[in-house]
Amino acid sequence: MLKKISASLIAILIIFSLSASTYTKAYECNKEGEILNKEFTVCIDPGHQGKGDPKGEPVAPGSGNKKPRVSSGTAGIATKKAEHVVNLEAAMILKDLLVQKNYKVIMTRETADVNISNAERAEIANNANADITIRIHCDSINDSGKTGATILVPAKNSQYTKNIYCESNKYAEILKKTLQNNNIKVNGVFERNDITGFNWSRVPVVILEMGFMSNYNEDRMLSDPKYQKLLMECVSESIDKYREEFLKN
Ligand SMILES: [Zn+2]
Repeated sequence: MLKKISASLIAILIIFSLSASTYTKAYECNKEGEILNKEFTVCIDPGHQGKGDPKGEPVAPGSGNKKPRVSSGTAGIATKKAEHVVNLEAAMILKDLLVQKNYKVIMTRETADVNISNAERAEIANNANADITIRIHCDSINDSGKTGATILVPAKNSQYTKNIYCESNKYAEILKKTLQNNNIKVNGVFERNDITGFNWSRVPVVILEMGFMSNYNEDRMLSDPKYQKLLMECVSESIDKYREEFLKN
């Protein structure tokens, strides 16, 4: 009888300590005493890939509207470099910065040789239950004078993205301020309802258009590892700030 009681007592203690350890596991402090949340998951999507795929996919779940699975992206006016290469270079820097800070990082791709559609990229983030998705791109426009970073967020009034607008926009505003504090020109935060990768996302998501590859000077800067690092440090710092807000709620 006593054996049975002590056995069940031990079982209870084991269950209790297991649940206690899983409960406290989500938070850890660094040397400065700041809270690090190991379970905070960031999905990084380096835009485009080696070869675009013009085959159509629905622009939103259940939509009859189709857009290419992945467009081929732009190329540098000065460097002649393909956008997908610059996007991946920056994304790998961001991955390193976040891993160093104990974030859980999911990459949609780490090479050019993939064929992952924009909807599939959103599903990768959905399946990982990411807390935020950062999609890294470069801009291009038929005006070589235009420069600066641009941030895109899902539309507030779209049936597909109304649930993720607020959190996405909260992060976007933090990112905008952080970039501006580091003397990087930001053209603004713009809502978009026509982006497949937004419409399929069930987690907060932004696109950072890092700058214009159609401007000679900015194109060269976007391929400069120092400038890439500065941009990605801004993204990383904004994630810290967003996570702090997130932990309060
Ligand atoms: Zn792009």
